[in-house]
Amino acid sequence: MSALEFDDHGLQFTDIRSGKSIRLMQGFQERTEVFSRCRRVLIKVGSAVVTGPKGLDRVMIHRLSDQIAELRGRSARMDVLVVSSGAVASGMHRMGLTERPRTIPQKQAAAAVGQGALMEAWEAAFDKYDLLVAQVLLTSEDLSNRHRYLNARNTLETLLSWGILPIINENDTVVVEEIKFGDNDHLSALIAGLVGADLVINLTDIDGLYDNDPRLHGSAKLIPLVQRVDAKVLACAAPEPGTVGTGGMLSKLNAARKCLAFGIPMIIAPGKQRDVVLRLFDGEQLGTMFVPRERAYSGKKVWLANLPKPAGEITLDDGAVTALIKKGRSLLPIGVREVKGIFGVGAPVRCIDKNGKQVGIGLTNYKSTEIDNIKGRHSEEIEKLIGYKHSDEVIHRDNFVVTSETV
Ligand code: GLU
Repeated sequence: MSALEFDDHGLQFTDIRSGKSIRLMQGFQERTEVFSRCRRVLIKVGSAVVTGPKGLDRVMIHRLSDQIAELRGRSARMDVLVVSSGAVASGMHRMGLTERPRTIPQKQAAAAVGQGALMEAWEAAFDKYDLLVAQVLLTSEDLSNRHRYLNARNTLETLLSWGILPIINENDTVVVEEIKFGDNDHLSALIAGLVGADLVINLTDIDGLYDNDPRLHGSAKLIPLVQRVDAKVLACAAPEPGTVGTGGMLSKLNAARKCLAFGIPMIIAPGKQRDVVLRLFDGEQLGTMFVPRERAYSGKKVWLANLPKPAGEITLDDGAVTALIKKGRSLLPIGVREVKGIFGVGAPVRCIDKNGKQVGIGLTNYKSTEIDNIKGRHSEEIEKLIGYKHSDEVIHRDNFVVTSETV
């Protein structure tokens, strides 16, 4: 007889032959599926993993490269991308700074000093496997502009097809906002969407998501599986990052939410544990896994959903909100109440409901001034009102993505 018992953290049962009590973590099956299907993995390495009190932790970088080389050796069809933090922390150490710089120029200077050393460390670590690495530095602007977004994707795809390992970081040195607001958790989610990764492994200095801050509460329990990043899950996060990196658990959860919206599983795992990446692929139940229910966006919609700065704002009436969200319809002039901002044809705009809540983002078929003229009117009147008619819709449904649950 086997005794089965479910609790919050998994399935407990007694093995019939050995009589031993065995625990399968919640999400065991989901994990097995994710890892067995994975052909393209993005591994995000936090500053707390690759740097230590003496600057770059070359031993850790070597250990990670050993695991990545083995992973690629196991399957010829496995693409690996790395998003590596550590430029600022490494630069700080090289300049003899003991505290993280406070001003933006100091952070940028530290990143400029540290990025070269960071790449050199990764390059040296992969050299022994004759594995070429490529430095890819991106800014959020690169991903906001559709042409640059596609260029970045082509470059990454070319590198992967040549068997080269992209080592990606934010281009901290040139973009103020990147350091001020950006973090590599967010960047990793965006890159995962860009390249259509099958999995993101976010390696950090803690074991995963706990139901309480484990630094303060000894009784905090690790949550093995999350399928939706809702208020309850967000409440588990400590907002404060550690001393060396930019993101904290909250930024990891926001990244997880993005990944789930793309239909990409993400796992938060302890980066310093020996062979953590290989053990995960071997089925060991480490960390917290975020598993999407279904693939939500693809192609252009992934890009649209992540535009950091839409060019304007359109307020919709209730009918339009229902048509867009529930029926997957296009936005017609009759559903527009108000237009804000000056923008041209093809501009990305935020669509909000009458209470100011974001409904989605779309590319417009008309200029802001034209939309102002046709708002609240029937599509048959467009030509009469602005002198021509490009289309019946202000935003076609193929160019619209619902984000109300994801931002
Ligand atoms: N890009 C920063 C660096 O390399 C780190 C950002 C982060 O910690 O998320 O130092």
